[in-house]
Parts: sequence; C-alpha cells; structure tokens
Amino acid sequence: MHGKTLEADYLVIGSGAMGMAFTDTLMTETEATVIMVDRHHQPGGHWNDAYSHVRLHQPSAFYGVNSKKLGSDTLDTTGWNQGLYELATDSEVCAYVDQVMQRQFLASGRVQYFPMCEYTGDRQFHSLVSDDQFSVVADKVVDATYMKVTVPSMRAPAYEVAQGATCLPPNALPRVAGQYDRYVIVGAGKTGVDACLFLLKNGVDPDNIAWVMPRDSWILDRANIQPLKFQQQTIGGFAQEMEVIAQAESLDDLFDGVNASGRLLRLDENVRPTMYRCSTVTMDELDQLRRIN
Ligand SMILES: Cc1cc2nc3c(=O)[nH]c(=O)nc-3n(C[C@H](O)[C@H](O)[C@H](O)COP(=O)(O)OP(=O)(O)OC[C@H]3O[C@@H](n4cnc5c(N)ncnc54)[C@H](O)[C@@H]3O)c2cc1C
Repeated sequence: MHGKTLEADYLVIGSGAMGMAFTDTLMTETEATVIMVDRHHQPGGHWNDAYSHVRLHQPSAFYGVNSKKLGSDTLDTTGWNQGLYELATDSEVCAYVDQVMQRQFLASGRVQYFPMCEYTGDRQFHSLVSDDQFSVVADKVVDATYMKVTVPSMRAPAYEVAQGATCLPPNALPRVAGQYDRYVIVGAGKTGVDACLFLLKNGVDPDNIAWVMPRDSWILDRANIQPLKFQQQTIGGFAQEMEVIAQAESLDDLFDGVNASGRLLRLDENVRPTMYRCSTVTMDELDQLRRIN
C-alpha cells in the first residue's frame, strides 16, 4: 500500500458535467489549484455509460463548460430533428470534455486529475487499479456527484423479469435489434423515448412495440429551446412561461397554465402527466412516439 499526501485549494469529486463546469469557472475566474477525482477512466460522467444512440436533448450550444463551445451551431437538415440545432452524441460529449481536461485544465498546471479513483470521504481516495491511497489537504471539498445520476446500464432492473423474457439496457439495442419479434420499453423518460425512436427509426413495426410507463411525463417542445436564429422565440417563450408560473396558485395550476400557453407537450391528451424532468421532443418525434401503444 502506497500512501501519498496531495495539496490544492479545492478537491473536486466527480468529473461529469457539474465538476467540469465548476472547475472551468475556477480556471477562468481565479488562480486556484484543483485536485479532481473520478471512478471513471475519463471525464464525462454518465456519458461514459450511455447507449451509443443517445443524443443531448437540447442543442449542443446549451451544454458543456463556459470557456469552450460544444458543437458547431449547425442546423440538422435530415431526421426528426430537422430544421433545429444539432444535438451532440455521447462520443462528441466525451471527446469535448476530454479536450477541456487535457488542453485546458491539465495544460494550465493548476489541475491534477485522478481518474479510476474512488473517493471514500474525509478527503481520502484510492486508486481502483493499484495500491495507491491518497490523502488531500485542501481548503474546500466540492461534491460534484450530488445529482447521483443512474442510467440503466449501471444497475439491474428494479422489477422482476419473467422467465423466458430477455431484459437489456438500451445500450444493447444496436446489437440485439432484429433478434426478437416483440419489444417492451419500460419507462417514460428520455431513455424510454430514445429506445422507442431507435426501434422506429430502424423500421420496427410499431405494432411489435409496447411501451409501459408507471406515470406519464410532461415534455418540452425542442423547437422552443433553441439558440441563435431562434433566440427571440426561445427567450420570449421563457418570459411568458415565467409570468404564468408567477401567477400560479398551486402546482396543478402551474402546469395547467404552462400547458395552456402551448409550452408543454404530452404523449396522450387524455392522460394528465405527473412527472416533469425537462425532456424534449420535436413534433416529428412526438408523431412517431404516438404510433406506439
Ligand atoms: C441520457 C441522458 C441525457 C441527458 N441529456 C441532457 C441534455 O441534453 N441537457 C442537459 O442539460 N442535461 C441532460 N441530462 C442531464 C445530465 O444528468 C446532466 O446534464 C449532467 O450530465 C449531469 O452531470 P453530473 O456531473 O451532475 O453527474 P455525472 O455525469 O453522473 O457525473 C458524476 C461523476 O462523479 C463520479 N463519482 C460519483 N461518486 C464518486 C466517488 N465516490 N468517487 C469517485 N467518483 C465518483 C462518477 O463516476 C461520475 O463520473 C441528461 C441525462 C441523461 C441520463
């Protein structure tokens, strides 16, 4: 066992979007030194565990750290996001944050990065691949794991799977699609939406897909969350939404008001959603999703 003591102004645990954005601001606005720790082998957090057909739900321009733009502000000319700004893939997000880490953070000499390391609390962490143990002397400890993001590939299903049924995370879809006659998608969030769209895009008959959701979700129209060319419409829409929210007298009232202003979508007009996680779709995607029972 090799014990080492390290020193910096900040100890940041997690190099997902939150840890990267926080450290980026420290780099830009202060002279602080930072030690970053993550159990993944590279920055990017849950994007390292994502399914390969994942895309950001919002335009690339809205994501990432302040000092470096993500994407090239290109409008999609094909597909169900046609006419709207590009959505980064998981590999784009991971490549982008890796560049921020390598070319900005590490190149500055002010950041020390410890991937493949587990933080165990009390300013202590250890390597997952060697005997190295570290103790940190730092003024501030920043927990950038706070969101506790869990994606399906990181855990077993939270329900019993019947004998004979194959239950897989969406990561497996490109490999197994075509081997089965029927698909059941479980869950109404962004991941469920993406799994449905993956199957439909690849020609699976909607009659061979069933979609099970314990609760419906309010969804945002992605056309209303766009930068640059559509900025006026986006900011105007947000302002209008804030007025409705300010006047609401209860949560139900709030959602009724925002829905009435045309800012919210739902899969089925006859079902009142009880979940809101800010996932977005285009109207073309919504039309596709409505083909599934
Ligand atoms: C499929 C999907 C799509 C999304 N799309 C969008 C989008 O388009 N726009 C948007 O704004 N948001 C989106 N989100 C929300 C997303 O969760 C956030 O944008 C953001 O990526 C979360 O970053 P994070 O740093 O909080 O968490 P994470 O990405 O989970 O990063 C936390 C990091 O901490 C590390 N860690 C945790 N505990 C320890 C420990 N004890 N020791 C060492 N390391 C540890 C983990 O390994 C991980 O790398 C999406 C989420 C998902 C799941």
